Order: sequence, then C-alpha cells, then structure tokens
Amino acid sequence: MDFFRLRNRLNFISRSSRIGILVLIFCIGFSLLHCHLQITSESTSLSPNQSNPTSESNLSTSLEWIKIKETVWIHRSFGEFGGQLYSANGLVILTNKGAVVVDTPWTEAQTEVLFSEIQVRFQKEILFLIVTHAHDDRMAGVPLFQNKNIPVYSTSLTAKLAKERGFGKTNPILDIQTRLPAGNQSLEVFFPGHGHSADNIVVWLPETHILFGGCLVKALDAKDLGNTKEADLNEWPNAVKRVLSRYPDAEVVVPGHGDWGKLDLLRHTIRLLVSSNH
Ligand SMILES: [Zn+2]
Repeated sequence: MDFFRLRNRLNFISRSSRIGILVLIFCIGFSLLHCHLQITSESTSLSPNQSNPTSESNLSTSLEWIKIKETVWIHRSFGEFGGQLYSANGLVILTNKGAVVVDTPWTEAQTEVLFSEIQVRFQKEILFLIVTHAHDDRMAGVPLFQNKNIPVYSTSLTAKLAKERGFGKTNPILDIQTRLPAGNQSLEVFFPGHGHSADNIVVWLPETHILFGGCLVKALDAKDLGNTKEADLNEWPNAVKRVLSRYPDAEVVVPGHGDWGKLDLLRHTIRLLVSSNH
C-alpha cells in the first residue's frame, strides 16, 4: 500500500468513527431530553396567567402530583376565583400505616380522583384528613371523606365556620391535640393568629422539615394577597412572623396556591402585606 492510499484509508476510518461518535452523542442527548420531559410533565405548575395544561372540559377532575420528598407529595387541583384560574395545593404524607391528607382538592370530583390516585399510586389507605381553614379550596371534598368514615380534624373555630357554611362536620380536636402521630411520621399544627382568615393554621412535618403554610403564605410569584375578604391585613404580618420564629429550620414551605419554595415565601408574604398596608 502506498503512502496516499494508506492516508486515504486512515481518513476514511477516522471520518466514519467521527460520524459514529456524533450519532452516539445525538442518541444520548435525545434520551436525556426525553427523560427530562417525562420528569417535568408530572410537576408542571400553573400560575393564574399561564395557559392551562388541562383543558376546560377535564378541569373539574384534574389533579397534579408534585413530589417534595419520597414520603411527601403535593396534590394540586384547579378552580376559578374572580374569573381567573388558580391552582390549589394540599399535601399527602405517606407513612408506614397509611396516608395522611392535608386539605381536600377544590371540588368533590377532584376529591374522587384523589381517593383513587392514592390507592393506585401509593397503595395506601387514608388515616385522616386535616383541614387548615373553612374555605372551599380546603374543604370542598369533606363530605366524601365523611362518606368513607375517614376522620376529619380541624380547630373548633374551623369546625364552627364549616358548619355555618355547609362544608360538613369536622372533629375539632386540634385545639387540644396539636401533635398528631401517624405511623412512622407525625404532624404538628399551629395557629399563628388571624391572617388570610380568622381560623388559618399551618402544618409542620418534623421528620421532613416541611412546612405547609396554606393560604397564610403566598407563593414567590404572587403579586397580590388573593382573596382578602376575611383577612386581617394588620395582624397577618405578625402571624407570619410567628411562623417564621417557630419554624426557622423549615427546608420547604408550601403555600396554599402556586409553587413551593423555602422560607423566602414567608418574607415575601410579609413584604406584600407591608406594601398593601401603605
Ligand atoms: Zn382561604
């Protein structure tokens, strides 16, 4: 083989291996992208101004699942307030004895979906439900829990308001019992004072350092305070400060609506309140 033919042969080999490497890179890239799309599709969030991933027709039964930790998930439902579409967050805590639910989805139909998905996804029975105040985005599904004889716990003020508003009957044990054991986990409830509503409570998960702020806490992208019909705008900042000083080691903070984050959500809520009070 002369020098030129040898060089051509080498060129050919290196060109084909270059193509091979390019094909390999493309395949890896494509599968990573595919994988990424699969992960994010389950945890897409919806802020009021974004287009809805679920069409109007299945809105009333759609539910999203967002994993915070292996044992703690957000159940996210959708509802309308003031002509705008909002998402509402509740929690599902998985223990070795069963699941605990914090707040029901926004409608009864979404609560039916919650029941079936807790069965299918997690193979758990529901131990009890905690409701964090007497509004429909927290309590609409309470009658369905009652039909299944699942205990529903609240404070006595929430129980009183719920009865007046026709949200069903709750057992007001949370005034006396603020720490609830649930299998290998536990929940603590705390009433920080009048904020979004007179009866708003927060839920602390000591094992995972997750704080469910409910409607007392706004998401970082919230530009206003949402439904303030029953709010006490002067007391609300103090209530959030009490939560901040009680749970300074919270790693995750879940608001009633919008995306979860860290303790900044509490500081952001105080900022919104201070600017709305001036
Ligand atoms: Zn509310």
